[in-house]
Amino acid sequence: MKYNSTRDNSVSVTSAEAIVKGLSVEGGLYIPDSIPSVSLEAIEEMANMSYTDRAKRILGLFLNDFKAGEIEDCVNKAYTREKFGTNSIAPVYKLDKDRCILELWHGPTCAFKDMALQILPHLLTTAVKKLGDEKEIVILVATSGDTGKAALEGFRDVEGTKIIVFYPESGVSGIQRLQMCTQEGGNVFVSAVNGNFDDAQTGVKEIFTDKEYNETLEAKGISLSSANSINWGRLAPQIVYYFSAYCDMLAAEELSVGEPVNVCVPTGNFGNILAAFYAKRMGLPIKTLICASNSNNVLTDFINTGTYDRNREFFTTISPSMDILISSNLERLLYILSDGNASEVKGYMDELKASGRYTVSEKIFAAVRENFQAGYADDDKCRATIKRIQEEFGYVIDPHTSVAVAVHEEYRERTGDDTKTIIASTASPFKFNGDVLAAILDGEELEDKDEFELLRLLSQRFNLAVPPSLGELEDREVRFETVCDKSMMKAVVNEFLG
Ligand SMILES: *Cc1c(COP(=O)(O)O)cnc(C)c1O
Repeated sequence: MKYNSTRDNSVSVTSAEAIVKGLSVEGGLYIPDSIPSVSLEAIEEMANMSYTDRAKRILGLFLNDFKAGEIEDCVNKAYTREKFGTNSIAPVYKLDKDRCILELWHGPTCAFKDMALQILPHLLTTAVKKLGDEKEIVILVATSGDTGKAALEGFRDVEGTKIIVFYPESGVSGIQRLQMCTQEGGNVFVSAVNGNFDDAQTGVKEIFTDKEYNETLEAKGISLSSANSINWGRLAPQIVYYFSAYCDMLAAEELSVGEPVNVCVPTGNFGNILAAFYAKRMGLPIKTLICASNSNNVLTDFINTGTYDRNREFFTTISPSMDILISSNLERLLYILSDGNASEVKGYMDELKASGRYTVSEKIFAAVRENFQAGYADDDKCRATIKRIQEEFGYVIDPHTSVAVAVHEEYRERTGDDTKTIIASTASPFKFNGDVLAAILDGEELEDKDEFELLRLLSQRFNLAVPPSLGELEDREVRFETVCDKSMMKAVVNEFLG
């Protein structure tokens, strides 16, 4: 299998090259030139396997320039009981007879980004070795919160790598700041940037595109790289857990082999739901993919009308990881649904850049409608859903998961489709303790409480264990206190690299 670019079909690289480069030179995303299929017999066989064995199977289909032993090594380092607190890695919780919640937040940072970022560093360092390029990899990340911490945890103490994370001084939650500033590891550095997320992001982009600077680093044996969600090395591991969820449901006799399910995903950059689409194309019996958004409902409109239009008000919501108006991974879907028409896709992306909008062809739109449904839930709806699910089932969900639950309920009502549904749960409720508690309890109870009192309250009230990685933040030493101006970011990088 080779990887093409979504904007240029003459590009053809191995998966190792796709992972190391991240983005194709003309700006396109790497995409496999075919989609492997998995038979129902193979799915049935996987029902009796561990998560790690399922991961080796599925990843092996896409990373076929990796040796089986290399994939095995990466998988075994990433998905351990020690890091995920459970051998199931991504357990399925049965909410009621029609709904299963796929808990993707048992990793070290309590959000689903761990599913990909725990394995990416190992895939990346293995790929670098395979290419015979023994450069040191320096990861630069600008983060609005979740990604930075998940990348720090993934790359900490991974040989041959260093990682530097910039977060906006004004713009991350108290817990998120603590998670980053207390980060352990000998190869990590964290700095706040005066400004908002865009400032941090622009600063990092400037460093990446500074040709002279990159050449100086290359001469010293250093190669800059990003860990963002368009890297194929982040997408491929996400396909695994959809197979795994179906297999777990088979093993629990919740499903019979071949029985269709729907999948509902709280969506931002379109990575997670694209992984579910891949699973469907590979043969996993998925009927409908339900794309759930918050008030930033650019994808809802796209799926319902065929027009993508980012020219709209931006809302800051209680599900911040979905506050996105440009869903980068959608480009891969357009490529697949256009049957690999790179020039058509490039045209849409040029329009998006120039005017902020594009309308897809009849052919693509029909294919979108065949596979996807969409809806959105605003903050009020999201809070009401957290409260109702807690009261009805004694199960506490975070705001991102709540958006998906609400959108799925609305879909079921609108269509009468009561197919069993896997709902992706992307964060632990503890990570968004304040908003979750405010949705369920009376506001007075929460007044004047700090983050750690809120963690304990959530734990005591609903009889849930505080995730150790969050609870222990209280006693952790703050290691990073640098705050810099945007113009000083390169100097910060230089100082860290010596
Ligand atoms: C990143 C994130 C999402 C969005 O996932 P995409 O792959 O970008 O669509 C949803 N929920 C949480 C908690 C996240 O961290």
